[in-house]
Amino acid sequence: MMHWSPRRQSSWVQLAGHQGNFQLSDGGKVLKLYSEVEARCLDWLMRDQLRPFVPQYHGLVTSGDHSYIRLDDLLSGLKRPVIMDCKMGVRTYQEEELMKAQTKPILRNDMYQKMMKIDSTAPSAEEHAQKGVTKWRYLQWRDTSSSTATLGFRIEGIMVGLDKAYHARLQALSETLKESSFFRTHEVIGSSLLFVHDHSSKASVWMIDFGKTTPVPDTHQLRHNVPWAKGSREDGYLIGLASLTSSLSQAITL
Ligand code: ATP
Ligand code: MG
Ligand code: MG
Repeated sequence: MMHWSPRRQSSWVQLAGHQGNFQLSDGGKVLKLYSEVEARCLDWLMRDQLRPFVPQYHGLVTSGDHSYIRLDDLLSGLKRPVIMDCKMGVRTYQEEELMKAQTKPILRNDMYQKMMKIDSTAPSAEEHAQKGVTKWRYLQWRDTSSSTATLGFRIEGIMVGLDKAYHARLQALSETLKESSFFRTHEVIGSSLLFVHDHSSKASVWMIDFGKTTPVPDTHQLRHNVPWAKGSREDGYLIGLASLTSSLSQAITL
């Protein structure tokens, strides 16, 4: 999914997510539809060691009937940017979504249709009969049919041409994650690393999308580098970061 806007200095490109969730804003900012979960994460991140790795957060604005979070546009000032969105971690569903599927299953026809479009043999006989799947089933199927479950990341969207400078940035991120109190205390689900560069400026990598990232209780510190087991809340973020870094080195030496 891509959308180019000729009205701006930078070319707005959205690689993933719902198109309606974003609005252009003045002064090198973007507006993303408000979510309390994401706003809480961003509040914390502005006070965390990870701040240099996150688009700067400028609070809430209301436009029409909707509230938005205001973020630095990571593409601002770049000409014909090259971008890649990598969704991190070994799963993209929250444990809560699994619980709901088990206790109060809601069948989604839209997700069944999406599944059918990609692989008509994926739904079970029962799912075919009811023409619906739970949200968890759909997300879990996408995780296991992509590299999410095995490598701990998947590419949601890419515009080709990667750069060596990404390496140094990923290394710095990896070091900072070790220090970050935010990272230690949050289950990071469905969040992405956004790779951005153009031909004049340096390449950078940013953490984005905290709509499913939630704090764990004080007594519970996450390791992020172990496989998930039900109830552990582990997200495999560091498994993904390691796979991604090594995939990138392979791509560069080719
Ligand atoms: P998802 O379906 O992954 O939950 P979402 O609606 O939560 O999507 P994001 O993943 O936050 O949306 O963003 C979608 C896309 O928009 C990203 O892949 C990226 O291309 C673009 N984007 C998001 N935030 C920014 C930003 N601050 N600056 C520039 N581009 C951005
Ligand atoms: Mg996203
Ligand atoms: Mg999201």
